[in-house]
Amino acid sequence: MNTELEKNFGCRVFNDDVMKQRLPEDAYNSLVSTIKKGLPLNIELAETVAGAMKDWAVEQGATHFTHWFQPMNNATAGKFDAFLTPTSDGKPMLEFSGKELVKGEPDASSFPSGGLRVTFEARGYTVWDPNSPAFVKDNSLYIPTAFCSYTGEALDHKTPLVRSNAAVSEQALKVLRCLGDTETSRVIATVGAEQEYFLVDRADYENRLDLKICGRTLFGSKTVKGQELGDHYCGRIRLRVSEFMKKLDNELWKMGVASKTKHNEAAPAQHELAPLFCEADKACDHNQIVMETMRIEAKKLGLACLLHEKPFDGVNGSGKHNNWSLSTDLGENLFSSGKHPEHNLKFLTFLCAVIIAVDKYQDLIRFSAASAGNDCRLGGHEAPPSIISVFLGDALTDILNHIANHTEQSEMRTKKLLDDIAVLPTLNSDASDRNRTSPFAFTGNKFEFRMVGSSASVAVSTYIMNTICAEALEFIADRLKNATSVEEGVVDLVSYTVKNHGRIIFNGNNYSEAWHNEAERRGLCIMRSTVDAAKALADPKNIILFEKYRVLNKTECISRYEICLENYVKTINIEADTMLEMASRQILPACIKYAGEVANSALNLSRAGAPSSAVDRLVKEISTRIDEITNSIIVLSKMVNKLSDVSDWLKKAELCRDEVIPAMNNLRKACDSIEPMVDKKYWPMPTYTEILHRI
Ligand code: ADP
Ligand code: MG
Repeated sequence: MNTELEKNFGCRVFNDDVMKQRLPEDAYNSLVSTIKKGLPLNIELAETVAGAMKDWAVEQGATHFTHWFQPMNNATAGKFDAFLTPTSDGKPMLEFSGKELVKGEPDASSFPSGGLRVTFEARGYTVWDPNSPAFVKDNSLYIPTAFCSYTGEALDHKTPLVRSNAAVSEQALKVLRCLGDTETSRVIATVGAEQEYFLVDRADYENRLDLKICGRTLFGSKTVKGQELGDHYCGRIRLRVSEFMKKLDNELWKMGVASKTKHNEAAPAQHELAPLFCEADKACDHNQIVMETMRIEAKKLGLACLLHEKPFDGVNGSGKHNNWSLSTDLGENLFSSGKHPEHNLKFLTFLCAVIIAVDKYQDLIRFSAASAGNDCRLGGHEAPPSIISVFLGDALTDILNHIANHTEQSEMRTKKLLDDIAVLPTLNSDASDRNRTSPFAFTGNKFEFRMVGSSASVAVSTYIMNTICAEALEFIADRLKNATSVEEGVVDLVSYTVKNHGRIIFNGNNYSEAWHNEAERRGLCIMRSTVDAAKALADPKNIILFEKYRVLNKTECISRYEICLENYVKTINIEADTMLEMASRQILPACIKYAGEVANSALNLSRAGAPSSAVDRLVKEISTRIDEITNSIIVLSKMVNKLSDVSDWLKKAELCRDEVIPAMNNLRKACDSIEPMVDKKYWPMPTYTEILHRI
């Protein structure tokens, strides 16, 4: 018996079941094999699929179709074409051809391209990605596509992801063959993207220009109650939030997104959603669907969903944990250690691949989490610092060291927990604890990369993981081929890895100041700002890597480097302008008005023969700070003007980092310090306390 819930899951997805039902058997079989083998689609088959897809979509209420793509601005895009094409005698007809399914031609000149496109060469192409199923949303058929320029350069995050999936599969297969695996025919990168977010009242959001325009608050003195009591994390879910979560899950399930876990996060008004992992390509599309649906469902309920990495100073920011793993097409997780990791050659080999890859390409990993928004989060409240390290846990690190040093491993001991309480079942402790402070933690059978920002596309960190691991795996396959035996080869590999790349393993507290010094001593790369991290894509060693595995060519790398800087500069510029607008036209007038009222009161008190030195002091205090605000506005305006005089993106970005941001911080400090002195009636926007505790 199928419950409503079971019937609804995936009901708006053109999935395998629907295809089986609606396509002729031979068409279905050749589509499946085309997808599996990654072959190009022939036009007759596309014609058949398009017909079935249109009929199904129209039954789902779709009137339009769109090629849905992911330009390099972390959002998604698409234009919507109606199926309706009237015949010459004016009769309605619904049309959707194979050509329309496979290829679209949006104008590419208006999307970030890092100099790849100029307006007079506007044409771009979108190409159907049959690996990620089409779905119906808001009366439109969404066809997931890759997006490239007229000359074939990728203009999105999906294209390199799809290419990197193939690269990591090819190299992982070489390793598996060396290890005696003759069965596996494909290795699949899997991703589960946990998504953190804030929910605030829509009215508060509408009344804050900074939230509306920039997605984060640019002003605001600390809330009277933050997260210090630890009472929000996994606490009772408030009614409005619960309502939102139910609606959200329902929508996501219909679109085939396996939303699995929901809970309150550490900061007030902060929450998290985790889906069940799936193939990387699909998981990245799903994460985009999650973010969009969150925004829409929040709006419908009079809420606003904030996906910015640091919407509020003084409390935790939001990340997106990229849980990444590799599994075979036969369903074997290659990072499953089993009961005896010390004897599990496959596990040890793939583990070494990740350690080598991450150590060698720390800069690229760091780049994959770089944005102006995430710069506000990293290194702050409970967010990883801007240093890459890998957490393995003491038990696993011990195993690697024993193998590397040819020493005897002592028996791994687990402890009985709670066995003093008769009514509770006894637990065996795990071999190693979790480490919440690590940016890149091994968590049982996958790696959890926690640096990614909440608004970022998870595709970037995924294609980087895939590519750097492809290289490490190829290197390993070559070593194993020349080994006298598989066992010896793996022992050698572990020794090599510990000796040459062991510095990347860190099981301690990543939040501590001591780690910064230690990381420096180890020679790990520390990049605090996006401006430094962006350079990874222009680094010749990395361009060689991307070209070798055909994930990005040199032009694509350089364009991505430029887009990263461009996005950074534009974001800071918009934030600075928003600050100037709010400070000059909202905060300053309010303070002046209030200062006038206090001055009047001081005068009246004095006239009444009851002068108050406290009130007199308040007038002075407020007017001193008004001067500070005014001065800070002048300095920031100058910086913004200076920015427009510079044309080179790197110089602009450096100017933002070194001068604009410090000027913004000063203006904020001046405004935040006056906020607690001003009568609430006069304060021109909702405060932190109101926003964070309204729902
Ligand atoms: P946390 O303890 O960090 O809150 P969970 O243990 O609940 O996280 O799981 C986090 C995510 O990891 C989930 O989205 C889950 O589906 C995903 N995950 C589990 N196994 C894999 C895997 N093999 N590959 C990719 N993601 C995985
Ligand atoms: Mg997590």
